Amino acid sequence: MKKRLILFVLEVLAVMSLLGCGAQKYKVNADSGFELDKKAYAAGEEVTAYFKYVATDTDYNFYCENDDVKIKTDYDNAHGYVITFTMPDHDVTIGVKSRNTMTMDYNAHPDVDPSAYEMWKCPDCGTLNAMPFCTECGRKKPGVE
Ligand SMILES: [Zn+2]
Repeated sequence: MKKRLILFVLEVLAVMSLLGCGAQKYKVNADSGFELDKKAYAAGEEVTAYFKYVATDTDYNFYCENDDVKIKTDYDNAHGYVITFTMPDHDVTIGVKSRNTMTMDYNAHPDVDPSAYEMWKCPDCGTLNAMPFCTECGRKKPGVE
């Protein structure tokens, strides 16, 4: 009976230490668009943040304002971008920079004749033109009817 009580006390102590009773938790400050798996993390805990607002033709560059934190970025079809890192002993700020990468893609626009957009030099006035006529003197691009 006494042995069982001691075991019980040891168990409670073990659970308390596992839960990190009273251990300080730190927060992750993130831009809108991020979803965190927890509200607060203890130092050393693995943090997982999801970024769901993924648009096509956009490059996302995830960063952490804290130099001592190394973030890892993955992509998963169910969640979008998945950012993971190990919680240090202070609050962390993460964010995202997005850049639109949409450029004229001739392969995606077969109706556009790329030769019409090649730069050419007007033989009359020397102006460089992108249009099929000279923007300076109005001369048609050579070879264009
Ligand atoms: Zn010209």
